[in-house]
Amino acid sequence: MTRQIKKAAVIGSGVMGSGIAAHLANIGIPSLLLDIVPKELTPAEEAKGLTLESKAVRNRISTDSIKRLAKQKPAPLAAKSKATYIEPGNLEDDLERLGEVDWIIEVIVENLDIKRQLFEKIDAVRKPGTIISSNTSGISIEAMAKGRSEDFQAHFLGTHFFNPPRYLKLLEVIPTEKTDQDVLSFVKAFAEDALGKGVVECKDTPNFIANRIGTYGLLVTANEMLKGEFSVGEIDSVTGPLIGRPKSATFRTLDVVGLDTFLHVAKNVYDEVEGAEKDVFDPPSFMKEMAEKGWLGSKTGKGFFVKQ
Ligand code: NAD
Repeated sequence: MTRQIKKAAVIGSGVMGSGIAAHLANIGIPSLLLDIVPKELTPAEEAKGLTLESKAVRNRISTDSIKRLAKQKPAPLAAKSKATYIEPGNLEDDLERLGEVDWIIEVIVENLDIKRQLFEKIDAVRKPGTIISSNTSGISIEAMAKGRSEDFQAHFLGTHFFNPPRYLKLLEVIPTEKTDQDVLSFVKAFAEDALGKGVVECKDTPNFIANRIGTYGLLVTANEMLKGEFSVGEIDSVTGPLIGRPKSATFRTLDVVGLDTFLHVAKNVYDEVEGAEKDVFDPPSFMKEMAEKGWLGSKTGKGFFVKQ
């Protein structure tokens, strides 16, 4: 069968979803960018007399992320055509529209139960043959697909983009035993030829390859910092500019990733491994306290280096 991706749906318009939609837009693939319906009005919306039923509010999260996209350099597309390529919406109003697309990419919060609930909804409306993938950082792909229809499972796999997805080349592709070989081959070829990615096929193990190593390295570094009584600035300096990585230092990277997402990712491994390795994947309490306060990095305007 000849496959083509003429239109996609990206579900979850946060840090990664907006970047993935922008990357697709840049290669001329239109996408629906869907999120959940907001439950509260912002003061600005109230001042404008909007209600929770107003379209601008119902589509707010994705509209915000399009604004975020516009600030990226180079801008994904000229403002006029961008709307055509990235169509914001919400899952309640636009769920049935998933039947229009050839590839559905799940990019929502890193939580197995929430992702499973979403896949159940998708299974009911997707057209047979539609590819579905998850951008999970490390949750079991098989566990996410459990209970879904045969056709869903044959077309389901992990496509793990790295942050920022428009610039980082690595794409981990994670099939399950039930993923159709044609689907796997197509996704790998499409990712290389159309998306310009360097594909690494991974086994479905906690956090796959890059995040398993990266999370370990980051947490060991954080613990060594505490033991040695170094500062966050000192650690970022010696793991960043001083060794030729101008931006991708330890805690600055966490600001970009989002501390909440990082803690979920560490837990993916913590829950699955035994022995001495387990302790390493239990993040130090200062990280958990920061997350509780909402100091998540760029996405909340406050983090290790980001200040409002
Ligand atoms: P994020 O918190 O920035 O965005 C998540 C978005 O999902 C939010 O807009 C939220 O409203 C939406 N959402 C939550 N529940 C939803 C639901 N039930 N239906 C629809 N939308 C829902 O998170 P992110 O950093 O973009 O991460 C998304 C996924 O990508 C996670 O699985 C994460 O592990 C993975 N990931 C993140 C990074 C990173 O650096 N942040 C890198 C690679 C992979």
